[in-house]
Amino acid sequence: MGIKKYPDPILRKKCEEVQEITQDIKNFIGDMIETMEAKEGIGLAAPQVGVLKKIIIVRTPKGPSVFVNPKIVRKSRETEMAEEGCLSLPEIYLNIRRARAAEIEAIDIKGKKIHIRAQGTMARVFQHEIDHIESRLMIDRLNFLQKLKIRKKLKKIKAH
Ligand code: ZN
Repeated sequence: MGIKKYPDPILRKKCEEVQEITQDIKNFIGDMIETMEAKEGIGLAAPQVGVLKKIIIVRTPKGPSVFVNPKIVRKSRETEMAEEGCLSLPEIYLNIRRARAAEIEAIDIKGKKIHIRAQGTMARVFQHEIDHIESRLMIDRLNFLQKLKIRKKLKKIKAH
C-alpha cells in the first residue's frame, strides 16, 4: 500500500472506530503489517495508508502487533524529548516532547480487550500512532522556535 504523505488532507480526517473485526479488516491489517515492514517503520496508522479507521500497528519487542480502537487511558506527568520520524513526513526528524510512560487500552485482532503499559520509546510510538488516528501529526507538537525552524521546509513540501 502507498503511504499518504503530508500535506495529504486524509491525514487530518476523523477516523472511525472498528465495530467488528471482519475478514476484510483482518486482510487490511495484514496489508498494513506488510507495508510497515517494507518501509522499515516502527509504527503505522490506518490513515497513513488512506483508511479512516482506528487501527495502528506497532513494532513491539515481540514483533509487529496490531491495536484496534486504541486509546491512551493514562499518561505520566513526566515528559521527555526524543527524535521522531514519520513515514508521512519523509526525511524530517524532529525532537518531540512526549509523556515518558503511557497506558493504552485497545482490542486485539481476536476482539479481546487489552491493556498495555509502555515506557520510553514504546510509549512514544503509541503516542505518535494514536495521534495519527486522532488527526494529529508530530509537527503539531512542536514549540514555537521549532515551528519557525521547520516552516520553510514544510512550505517546500506543500508546494510540490
Ligand atoms: Zn507518523
